[in-house]
Amino acid sequence: MKLISQSQIRDFQTCPQKYYLSHILKLSWPAPPSPLFKKLEEEAALGETFHLFVHRIIQGLNPEESAFETENKTIAKWIDNFLRNYPLPQDAVLYSERELTNLDEDILWIGKFDVIATLQNKILIFDWKTSQKAGKVLWLEESPQTRLYRFLLYQNRQLYSYDGTDHMKPEQIEMIYWFVNFPNSPIHIGYSEKQFAADRQFLKEIAAKINSDKAENYPKTSIEKVCNYCQFQTYCKRGFPDQSDSEYEPDWNNLPLTEEL
Ligand code: SF4
Repeated sequence: MKLISQSQIRDFQTCPQKYYLSHILKLSWPAPPSPLFKKLEEEAALGETFHLFVHRIIQGLNPEESAFETENKTIAKWIDNFLRNYPLPQDAVLYSERELTNLDEDILWIGKFDVIATLQNKILIFDWKTSQKAGKVLWLEESPQTRLYRFLLYQNRQLYSYDGTDHMKPEQIEMIYWFVNFPNSPIHIGYSEKQFAADRQFLKEIAAKINSDKAENYPKTSIEKVCNYCQFQTYCKRGFPDQSDSEYEPDWNNLPLTEEL
């Protein structure tokens, strides 16, 4: 049985070689010691802390408590944005930091959800984004995270529906990306029977593509700019831009897959 997450799909779509090195060889390769990567790692650590703090708030801890003490001004601002623009519905049952799985033809699909909010006639998936740039609707609609998470929630709807039944339709599921730096511009993405069928097909096709363990089935990306953001730069001997004044895109979840980079 193979286990596949959205980050694995994203790695495969970004660069098949990256997927091969990370998830088949499980190569632990040191990130390049560059200012770009240092900053990327710092951004990732801040994002993790924000997710932890929001989890604590949802669990009922008071944000004034010592569990939220931080000297980092960015985190403090993000939490302030969260509290001032509280994005979660007041009348929902909230499930924070939940892992959902679905076994489909020997593939165990897996996703970790920031928040699932159950309302009487709807289930909302919330995902916190700490990127410095606002999200793009088209990217997010097509992103493996959106496609996998809606699919996983629909397959697990009985556990998260208001009445504990599987009567919910895909149209009653919605994914909401909320951006800490753009608290008034969340992106809402709906769902439908047609999209559920398309997502299931998409996931099947991905599963078929990454079924092989042979290196020749995982070529390097032809979009070399992608390599600027990859930890395997020194392994592949690719992607060494002048990083002294590099304008980088630190949001790994929205890493562009096209020449738009
Ligand atoms: S450095 Fe480039 S070619 Fe090598 S794994 Fe990373 S993205 Fe792929």
